[in-house]
Amino acid sequence: MLDQKTLEELKQKLLEEKNNIEENISKTEKSEKGTDREYKTAFPEIERDQEGNADEMEMYESNLAVDESMKKELEKINAALGRIEKGTYGACSNCNKEIPLERLRAYPQAERCLDCKK
Ligand SMILES: [Zn+2]
Repeated sequence: MLDQKTLEELKQKLLEEKNNIEENISKTEKSEKGTDREYKTAFPEIERDQEGNADEMEMYESNLAVDESMKKELEKINAALGRIEKGTYGACSNCNKEIPLERLRAYPQAERCLDCKK
């Protein structure tokens, strides 16, 4: 099992990562609103500038994709924090073996050991 000190260290990492992601998401949401506004104003120009508009759409969609993956990451972090609270943190959700500490240090929100991830 993980000792209290290591657990605390990993928890700090998770909280830091959580803050980063939340900051990024709010930034993306702000810029998304910006993109949205630009997209709407660009709309009447659709016939005049087909190509430019398509580029904008692509940018808009990739923004959303980044946002989605950040939200998934955030869910994983919240789940990991929940496991710390429950005292089940560090065990693989699939085989129940301990996830190696070096893996947790590199990716504290890991749910499964590398063997199960394969
Ligand atoms: Zn496993």
